[in-house]
Amino acid sequence: AAKDLGRNRFHYFTASMQEEARYRMILIRDLRQAVNNKEFEIFYQPIIDLPNGEIHKAEALIRWHHPERGLVSPGEFIPVAEETGLIIEIGNWVFSQAAKQCAHWRDKYGVELQISINKSPVQFRDEGDSFEDWIVQLKELKLASNSICVEITEGLLLDASMGVSEKLLAYRDAGIQVSLDDFGTGYSSLAYLKKFDIDYLKIDQSFTRNLESDTDDVTLCEAIIVMAHKLGMTVIAEGVETEYQRDILTKAGCDYGQGYLFSRPIPAADFEDKYIRAIAQMKHEQASS
Ligand code: C2E
Ligand code: MG
Ligand code: MG
Ligand code: MG
Repeated sequence: AAKDLGRNRFHYFTASMQEEARYRMILIRDLRQAVNNKEFEIFYQPIIDLPNGEIHKAEALIRWHHPERGLVSPGEFIPVAEETGLIIEIGNWVFSQAAKQCAHWRDKYGVELQISINKSPVQFRDEGDSFEDWIVQLKELKLASNSICVEITEGLLLDASMGVSEKLLAYRDAGIQVSLDDFGTGYSSLAYLKKFDIDYLKIDQSFTRNLESDTDDVTLCEAIIVMAHKLGMTVIAEGVETEYQRDILTKAGCDYGQGYLFSRPIPAADFEDKYIRAIAQMKHEQASS
């Protein structure tokens, strides 16, 4: 159940059980308010083509501006949003926001950049899962269905009860791409990679982190990349922080990288200044030469 997701989550945070319960209640209350008061913002992080250094697409990452606490990280509030079901409304908002942003950049700069959004298993499990609604929204914005890519995690692929196969097939039929996030951290059976039609495999940052010191992790990354390619998937390495990591991954044939080496997640306006304008400029130069 959704409840199980967040059990034990705040043990490190408070001394007593009582305080823990109180903290949770306040967080839930504040999160409800945040949904009503639209206290969220989407940050964008570029995903970079490793061989040539150009931007390939972006990932949308939610941020919460808490009126008193300031920025609260998704690692803290997404689990609570999942337990309470608030993730449904938040997730739909993230989708709409990302789609509108994509259409805006297209209209203003003629740049259509794919945006990845994270979709929680709780959203998949929801009876009124808004997939059809999403397609309608894309149509209304005159966006191609591959303007948005949906990031899922390995755990979802194990949950047959949600009709995941059917849903992912429907995604494929509708032309929506799918990324497998945090690969290597879940309990994925490799058989699932064959069964589901997944476009991108994202190597979890726990593998990227130790590439400099741990030759086993280098071997693992190389093997994941070869396997993914043979199964027709494109590979993105998460958490690329150093040039050394980037170079090892590039040499291993990794297609794309995402991480602080290139950019942290940044507000839409900054992303537009730094990346969208540059793409538009490049297209302009190519057209006139
Ligand atoms: P994720 O989808 O795996 O996103 C990547 C996380 O790694 C982001 O953390 C990003 O800021 C961080 N990151 C990127 N590059 C680096 C790097 O070089 N080094 C390190 N140490 N970290 C890096 P963030 O933004 O705090 O998000 C955490 C998680 O929260 C996400 O992990 C995702 O699971 C969840 N999340 C974020 N936004 C949403 C959302 O809109 N919906 C849902 N359901 N989950 C979300
Ligand atoms: Mg993700
Ligand atoms: Mg990830
Ligand atoms: Mg993650």
